[in-house]
Formats: sequence, structure tokens, C-alpha cells
Amino acid sequence: MEWRTVVWIITALLGARHVLCNKICIVGSGIGGSSAAHFLRKYSEEEAVEIHVFERNSNVGGRMAMVELAGDKFEAGGSILHPKNLHTLHYTELLGLKRKTASDDRDFAIWDGQKFIFKSYASGKSGISKKITELFNDLVVFWRYGASLFKMQSFVSGLLSKFLHYYDDSRPIFYSMEEMLKWTDLYEHTQHSLEVELAAAGLSSRLISELITVIMRINYGQNVDISGLAGAVSLCGSGGGLWSVEGGNWQMAAGLIDMANVSLHLNKEVATISFDGKNYEINTSEGQIHHCEVAVLATPLDEVNITFIPAISIPVRHLHHTYTTFVRGLLNPVYFGQLSSSRLPDLIGTVEVPSLPFSSISVLKDYSDDDKAYKIFSRKPVADDLLDKIFSVRKETIRIDWAAYPHYQAPEKFAPFLLDDHHLYYINAIENAASTMEMSSLAAENVARLILSRLYGGPSEKSRSSDSGNAKLHSEL
Ligand SMILES: Cc1cc2nc3c(=O)[nH]c(=O)nc-3n(C[C@H](O)[C@H](O)[C@H](O)COP(=O)(O)OP(=O)(O)OC[C@H]3O[C@@H](n4cnc5c(N)ncnc54)[C@H](O)[C@@H]3O)c2cc1C
Repeated sequence: MEWRTVVWIITALLGARHVLCNKICIVGSGIGGSSAAHFLRKYSEEEAVEIHVFERNSNVGGRMAMVELAGDKFEAGGSILHPKNLHTLHYTELLGLKRKTASDDRDFAIWDGQKFIFKSYASGKSGISKKITELFNDLVVFWRYGASLFKMQSFVSGLLSKFLHYYDDSRPIFYSMEEMLKWTDLYEHTQHSLEVELAAAGLSSRLISELITVIMRINYGQNVDISGLAGAVSLCGSGGGLWSVEGGNWQMAAGLIDMANVSLHLNKEVATISFDGKNYEINTSEGQIHHCEVAVLATPLDEVNITFIPAISIPVRHLHHTYTTFVRGLLNPVYFGQLSSSRLPDLIGTVEVPSLPFSSISVLKDYSDDDKAYKIFSRKPVADDLLDKIFSVRKETIRIDWAAYPHYQAPEKFAPFLLDDHHLYYINAIENAASTMEMSSLAAENVARLILSRLYGGPSEKSRSSDSGNAKLHSEL
């Protein structure tokens, strides 16, 4: 064969492969970006997509991160998962990660800045005394909040049962959050505040302003003004059966990225994404350029510096900053109006009193009676002089300022999953509904199906447009 013919055949083959193989660039390696990579790989044929993940940090995981305090590692961001978080549960099985369940024998109290307005009892050590304390604590909680507790449970389980439809095989592919929420009748719960919804459900104002407010302050650093849906998700985070990954939740992201056979670009901050009419040109702040047919944003856009050409338009959203302070030492009971020899509860939550300098303080690890590791959540940084009042012993302190989750304000407005008429996708549009590791996974799964259906023409896309591509979708899609 003449050499010119050989060159022509090779060029033609390479060209054909280029048509078949789409390059997908994902910005962010948290649970959203890693889930997108996982589902894109799972739902497409191996050679159909080339996946690149860009991460500005030197490690993957995003808001799933660990902190090292006096030699021990603790979850610093996303910590607990719900037993019905089916995607993340599945990841742990797929990746062979060990789950540990959160201990439910911790005692807790509600502090109003002057006194403890509620206190549960510390659990006994043996099985039988543990059971008795549990029963006694149930009675104490019931005594204070009465039948409203059942109404709260029924509100949460009602929303949870709607949410579980997102795992149904019959779930459609959604272009927008509105569409997604309306499909399960959850949309209305993003349009009213939790307080309004709970009052309408007949809960007492005492339960709302105390226990429920405490839970909102712990889980989202906010109060009962947040939407009914975000509130219900937060209430789920205070139930039983909660779990985390032994050794750190970030391992889910690391494992998924590894398994999806992606090109991972660490320490690469995406600075500009421009569309040239065919491809997205991704520019990193160091001047590297990548061309991709598809760009997926797997990070909240509210506080990142990415320039889009042409510009995109999404609703303005403010992120709530949660200041997380880790202390190894011992709390000072005197600060809480107790005798210096008193034992303080494992979890101290607070009600909405503007002068209160923290939302919660919890024991992460109990080394001995006078040596513990603590996590403090607050809306503002906690200064050293205040810490010196709250703690009688302080061996080590670590502070993290998280751009943690949206500042929720019903009625919520949502950005779409598809940001232009081409292939620019946004996973973190889901965070206006609620921000959790499972929510990002859920949005990523939907975005992966949306991408593949629009690239190759799956059933859902065919019903929306007359475009019919080659049906390369894996049957699981
Ligand atoms: C203090 C705290 C406690 C929480 N507790 C819980 C909890 O108990 N349970 C729960 O389920 N959820 C919890 N959450 C929420 C949960 O952590 C998040 O919803 C989830 O981890 C979001 O994942 P993500 O992948 O969507 O975003 P992220 O984890 O934020 O990932 C985005 C990634 O994109 C990267 N990135 C950003 N910009 C660029 C750029 N220009 N170029 C390249 N890379 C970029 C970031 O570095 C980051 O790694 C908590 C969050 C915080 C902060």
C-alpha cells in the first residue's frame, strides 16, 4: 500500500474516533464532580467519553475534608449521612469503604446564653442502664414538647418518602430544579419557610423555637426562616442510623474518580470557560488550555472566580459562612453557670439569641475526664479571648472558615442544570433545595444522564427535540 493511502486511513480512523469520543471537562472534585465522573463512565461505553476533572486544591473531596487536631483526624466539613442516602451508601459498597454509625448515647442541652433551658441525661455504661436512660430521655423530651414531636416526625417522613422517588427506575431526566422538585411535589416546600410549614402542620411554637431551631443552627448555621425542604433535610440529619466513612468521607470522591478512569488535574484552578461555537475552551489560572465538547460545573459558582464567555446568567445566591473551630482541651463549666467540677453535656446547642457567640459545641472525642476534642460551629469567628473564657484548658485550636452552603431564604430561586443552549452544565444548582453530599450526588447522576441523552439522543432527549444521534447510551441509563 502506498504511504499516502496509509496516512489517509490513519487520519480517517483518528477522525472517526474524534467524532465518537467526547471530551468532558468537570470543574471540581468534590462528591458532585466525582459522582458525575462515575455516572458518566457507568452509563456510557468505555470509549465514548474522555473525562477530565479539574481541581484547584492539591487533593480531592472539596467540602468533604479532614482536619488534624493534636494527632487525631476528624471530619471538618460534610460529616454525617442518612441511612436513606442511597447513592452514597452504594458508593461505600462499590468502593469497599467501611461505614461507621454515629453514637446515639450522647447527652445534649440547649443553652440560651444565661442558662440551660433543656438538658438530657448522660447515658449509662451498661446495656440495661443505657436503655433506661434512653427511655427516660424520651420521656423528658416528650414532657417538654408533647405531641408536637409526632407531628414533626410525620412532617419529615412525609417529605422523605417523596424524596425517595428520585431513586425510582422511572425517574425522568430533569433540565431544571423546578422540574425535578415538581415531579415529587417537593417544589412547594422550597417556597415557604420551615417555620410557616411547621406552624401549619400544628407544631407548637416552643418546639419550633427551641429544639428545631437548635437543629437548624447546628446543621445549616441558620434558623427556621430556611425553606421547609432544607429544614426537613436538616431534621433528617438529627435522626437515628446516621453514618460516615471510616477514615474520612473524602474517600468516596477519591475512589469514584479512580474507578471512573479520568484524567485528574490537581492544583489546576479553572479561570475562564469560553465557548467558540463548537467547543468549550477551559483556561486554567496557570495558562493551560483544554478543549472540551462538554463542561460540567461541580462547584457552587457564588464565590468562585470563573469568567464565562459568553456570560451566563443565574439567580444571585449568597453562601452562608460557617466558622468551624476545633479545640483540644476542656470546656469550662463556670462559663455555663455551673460549678467548676460539673460535667457538661456532649452536645450544647443554642437558640436564636443575637448575642450568642456560637451555634453549637460538641465533643468529638473523649480522651479522659479532663481532655477532649471539640467542634464549635459559629456564624462569626470565635476570638481567642472568648475561647479562653469558654475553655479552662486549650492545648490546640484550629479554625476553618467554610463558604458552607447557601444562605436559605424561601421562596427559593433555582439556576438550571443546563446553563446555555449547548453543553454547559451546573450540578450545584441543587444546593438551593438543600446542601448535602447525597444531594450533590443526586444532581450529578441527573446531569450525567442529561449529558448523555443530549449527546447521543436517549429516550428523554428524543421526546424533547427531533435530534436523533447514534444511540450509544448504556442500557442502565
Ligand atoms: C461545615 C460543613 C458541614 C457539613 N455537614 C454536612 C453533613 O453532615 N452531611 C452532609 O451530607 N453534608 C454536609 N455539608 C454539606 C456538604 O459537605 C456539601 O453539600 C457537599 O460536600 C458538596 O459537594 P460538591 O462536590 O457539590 O461541592 P464541593 O465539595 O464544594 O466541591 C467543589 C470543588 O470544586 C473545587 N473548585 C472550585 N472552584 C474551582 C475552580 N475554579 N477550578 C477548579 N476547581 C475548583 C473546590 O476546590 C472543590 O474541591 C456540610 C458542609 C460544611 C461546610
